Amino acid sequence: MTLDAVLSRIDDALPESCDRLMELLRIPSISTDPAYDGDCAQAAAWLVQELKALGFSASTRPTPGHPMVVGRHAGEGRHILFYGHYDVQPVDPLELWDRDPFDPVQENGPNGPVIRARGAADDKGQLMTFLEACRAWKDVHGVLPGNLTIFFEGEEESGSPSLIPFLRENKDELSADLALICDTGLFADQTPAIVTMLRGLAKVEFTIQGATKDLHSGMFGGVAMNPIRVLTRILGGLHDENGRVQVPGFYDDVAELPETVAAQWQGLGFDHAAFLGGVGLSTPAGEADRTPLEQIWSRPTAEINGIWGGYTGAGFKTVLPAQASAKVSFRLVSGQDPAKILPAFKAWIEAQLPPDCALIWKEPEGSPASVMEITDPAFDAARAALSEEWDRPAAFVGCGGSIPVAGYFKEFLGMDAMLIGFGRDDDQIHSPNEKYDLESFHKGIRSWARVLDRIAQQ
Ligand SMILES: [Zn+2]
Repeated sequence: MTLDAVLSRIDDALPESCDRLMELLRIPSISTDPAYDGDCAQAAAWLVQELKALGFSASTRPTPGHPMVVGRHAGEGRHILFYGHYDVQPVDPLELWDRDPFDPVQENGPNGPVIRARGAADDKGQLMTFLEACRAWKDVHGVLPGNLTIFFEGEEESGSPSLIPFLRENKDELSADLALICDTGLFADQTPAIVTMLRGLAKVEFTIQGATKDLHSGMFGGVAMNPIRVLTRILGGLHDENGRVQVPGFYDDVAELPETVAAQWQGLGFDHAAFLGGVGLSTPAGEADRTPLEQIWSRPTAEINGIWGGYTGAGFKTVLPAQASAKVSFRLVSGQDPAKILPAFKAWIEAQLPPDCALIWKEPEGSPASVMEITDPAFDAARAALSEEWDRPAAFVGCGGSIPVAGYFKEFLGMDAMLIGFGRDDDQIHSPNEKYDLESFHKGIRSWARVLDRIAQQ
């Protein structure tokens, strides 16, 4: 069994794999701060050198910001693109770190050995899991696994300003049959997960305008319409008593969760009491007929993110304001079009405006959800591979936040992505004392070897 040989090779070579990760972690590639531009370039150059040593043809590609890294190995089988990012978040507040964030160390954490440094989990440790799997594979087989493109970005932590133009300009080169993205985590401590649905987002700020100027409530109160009264009445009706959004047509295009996925989610045993308990709450407030996991991953939401108007400073001012404003956002799911949702929301508000009130609509913006084609056999192959390594069934999960690169791959390259990662909730990414469990690193490398082996067999 050559897979067994690859896995043993990974086990034997783990100390050297860690050493290479430490080297990368020593480069302070903070993308948002121009003081570290040279370090970002150095991290990119380091990765190119590693890729070349592995047998990829590789180069850095200049952008108006930090360079991209592209590596290519034309082999047999389906063309797979692997994505990670080499840039990291700033380290401040530095005084909350127990050591220099760029002097990585392996030390004992509460649940076993950890690698501690900025970027250990997000995303250097994760991207190195894939390279180390490729290395062990090559050591055993003499060639790299399959038909691979490696794509590393250096601006993920600073908004990816160069990503879309780069994807557009290099569409032919980067369009593969499938993308693998390693920048997510396990579900719970030991349950491997493949993120297959990412919610979209639509947002808008608006103002309700009443009188031409602020008024004195002793003179105009009662007779003049107060825009805060209008705003709160309308937004107070945004959800019904069962948590359903009341904008007409809001749920029209929402796809139901496939039964196989719904069954997997049931099997995850999500502890919503602990999830909400962690933030001092106890009762789910979303759609009453949906499970909490559905509410987070596969159902759309509406939230009032901010609301203001009138006098909110110290003391009291009996003003009757001319304006009241709010910021409202919607998390969108498969099938929903932000270009339909935002106008529907606007029309719903307008229909409820009393005489003398006008709506001022500011900068509506939206991006749709991305949902991967899990009928692609690679998804089941990866699920089987992860389940074997972690000795627990892997699940196709959703992601409540957003991972824009997956959506961009789909939008600009027409390519689905499997998001597989080995981070844990307590990795403290973006925070002081970031760490990556040695187990995440080791089993992450082994996981990729198994995934690549399964995909190669297809
Ligand atoms: Zn990341």
